[in-house]
Order: sequence, then structure tokens, then C-alpha cells
Amino acid sequence: MSPREFAYEVTKRLQEAGFEAFWAGGCVRDQLLGKSPKDYDVATSATPTQIATVFGERKTLELGVAFGVITVIGTKQSGNIEVATFRCDSDYSDGRRPDSVEYSTPEMDAQRRDFTINGLFFDPLREQIVDFVDGQTDLEKGLVKAIGDPAQRIAEDKLRMLRAVRFAANLDFQLDPETKHTIKKHASEIVIVSVERIAVELNRMLVNEHRRRAVELLIETDLLGAILPELADWQENATQKEQVLAHLAALASPEFAVALAALMQKSVTPREFGKLAKRLKLANHVTDTGTWVLKNAATLSQATELPWSDIQPLLIQPACPVAVGFLEAQGGAEAAVSFCRERLEWAAERLNPAPLLDGNVLKNLGIQAGPVFKRILDETRNAQLNGEIVTQEEAITLAHQLSSS
Ligand code: ATP
Ligand code: MG
Repeated sequence: MSPREFAYEVTKRLQEAGFEAFWAGGCVRDQLLGKSPKDYDVATSATPTQIATVFGERKTLELGVAFGVITVIGTKQSGNIEVATFRCDSDYSDGRRPDSVEYSTPEMDAQRRDFTINGLFFDPLREQIVDFVDGQTDLEKGLVKAIGDPAQRIAEDKLRMLRAVRFAANLDFQLDPETKHTIKKHASEIVIVSVERIAVELNRMLVNEHRRRAVELLIETDLLGAILPELADWQENATQKEQVLAHLAALASPEFAVALAALMQKSVTPREFGKLAKRLKLANHVTDTGTWVLKNAATLSQATELPWSDIQPLLIQPACPVAVGFLEAQGGAEAAVSFCRERLEWAAERLNPAPLLDGNVLKNLGIQAGPVFKRILDETRNAQLNGEIVTQEEAITLAHQLSSS
């Protein structure tokens, strides 16, 4: 059973048990836009206890029960579905999450959602859209507009500011002028939101094909400097800004680390990038990849001019292919990019041949362990890579020369 068929089945079972049940939110929006929804959410008049009774305790999980959400377990193929009781969220005293939830009507459940395009329901049995918030009009207009009073909705949950920008950019929609104006007014308050949630939004904007537009909207709404203070004065340098935006736009399906590195490249050193990534609590591999790209892109851009022994150690690193993608998008290093791409295709033993010498060989030659040791190993390795020596005998001769010099 596909996720869609399972979502249909779950809705049908609830309706047959006498409850109201709809598909809700993102899946309705995506379907109306002709995109296939990532996942389906069901909203219903049944309470969590009633939902558990309809599907059986063993087919349900109570992970989100405090928010009136029950997970209905599907198959590996269909995945699970979250079924939420119609609710209204009340009293956001912290600007992050509701203090309590109360079960309510479909209309009130639509009203508590963030944007009109996200406030739609769909009854899959009757094939009918249920629209309490004029979401269909805004979908047709291509508009991201807060439901109700933007200032109040943003005061409740500051994350909605970033969500608004993400939906506008990723869907290639406009931000409703009043919503946009209100975001700008409150942009500095985004720092109340946890860095993890901010990072999730930033990630989703930067890996999307519309990442340039996302950054432009973040600038226009003053959110960019609020979430990345390293870029606070960035807008003053128009040439630099344009270079970075063009580079961002040219990245082909970048991972988050690479897009973030492109965004930050003119404003931070590799080490500062590492600090920023820590602050945003990014996964280690994101931090490492981004730092590596910033540290080594310039060297890679000279791949055709520098000795092979400078380039080869970079090409054997796992982050190298994405760094080459970064360079390609930057433009102006076409020869280096082709050179790296070609050599990245080389078989392992050609790209990274076994060293002619190792520590044991040096010891047997009577060379004392110490700083010299490493220098000899490095220099014989470089000579090997650069084709100056080919056999172990030549390497040993060179090692003797180096140890007596
Ligand atoms: P996508 O999953 O593609 O990001 P989505 O619309 O499904 O889009 P989710 O974050 O999965 O977004 O949330 C599902 C629905 O829950 C939204 O469509 C919206 O109706 C509601 N929602 C989510 N987050 C918020 C929020 N911070 N404030 C109000 N409503 C929200
Ligand atoms: Mg979703």
C-alpha cells in the first residue's frame, strides 16, 4: 500500500466510525500544486483515545499524545501516519510553543495553522477541499500569507518568520506584503527560537533549488543578520553580495554544508566557520565538510599549476568531490575543475599508490626516529607522487641524502 492509499484508508476508517476526518496541511497544499506530497497528515474530530480505539492499541503510538497526535502504524511501504485531533493552541507565553492545547472544531484547527496555504483540508472520500482560510485563493495567487493577524501569529511562534520565507522561496511564491512587513519588524526576535529549529529551516532553504531567492528574502526581511550575525554588514558590499548569490545559485544540488560554506565564504575563515557550525549545533560531518571546503577550495582551484604532491592529498579526502562542485559553481576555474574530476575517476592504486617507504624501512636503514623521520617520509612521498622517483631503491637513496643533509 502506498502512503497515499494508507492515508485514504486511515481517513475512511475514522469516517466509518462516525468521526470527521480530513487530510490536512502540507499534503493538501502540495497536491493542489501538482506535487506529490512527502507525507500525509490526517486531522479528525476523534480524540486520541478514540483514535486508538478505532485502530487498536497495537497499531498506534502515543508519541505526540500531549498535542493530541496519535501515530497510526502502517507497513514499511506505506509508512506511518500522524492523526491529530482538531485543536486550538492557546497561550503562547514563550513565543515558541503553546502552553496548552484544546480540542476544537475543524474551523478552529484551520485557524491555528500558520499560513493560508497550509490551512487547507481535503476529504479524500468525497474528493472535496474544505477551506476556512481562503487558502485556495492564495495558492492560486502564489502568496504566503499569515492566517489572521500576522503580528499576533508571529508573537505566538517566532519560527513562523523563517517558515514564511522558506515556503515563499521553495514554492517560488510571494510573501504577502503585510506578513513580510511584520516579519521585518520582528526579525531580531528570531533568536528566541532554538538554534536546532533555525538550522533545520536554513538547511531546507539552502539545499532547495531556490536558495538564492531564500537568501534574498532573508535579507529583505532582516532575518539573515539575525540568524547569521557574521553576515550582518554583508549588504553594504554589493559586489561581494552579488558574487556570493551567483555562486549559491550555481551550485548543483549541493548538500547543506556546501551551500552554507558558499554563503559564508567571504565573511568567515574556515576556523570561524567551524565555530558558527558549532553554535548552530550542526552535525559533525556538516561542520567538517564545510570547513574543509573553505580551507581547500583555493588550493584546488590551482590544481593545474601546483605540483601533484600538493593536490593529490586533497583529492583522496572524502570531502573533495563536493569541494570540486563548489569550485565549479564559483566559476573561473574550469581547467582545475576538469583536472580534479578526471583524476577523481582514477583507480585507487593510481590515485593513491602505496608509499615506497615506511617507518620500518627507515629504522632498518638506521635512521633515528624524530622530526627528521617525518620529513623524510613526506619528501620521499612527494618525490614519488611527482614522478621523481619510481623504485624503492631510489627512495632509499633519497632518504639517505635527506638524513645527512
Ligand atoms: P513541509 O513538510 O513540506 O515542510 P508542511 O506544510 O507539511 O510542509 P510541517 O512542518 O510538516 O509543514 O507541518 C504540517 C502542518 O502543520 C503545516 O502545513 C501547518 O498547517 C501546520 N504547522 C506546522 N508548523 C506550524 C507552526 N509553527 N505554526 C502553525 N502551524 C504549523
Ligand atoms: Mg509536512
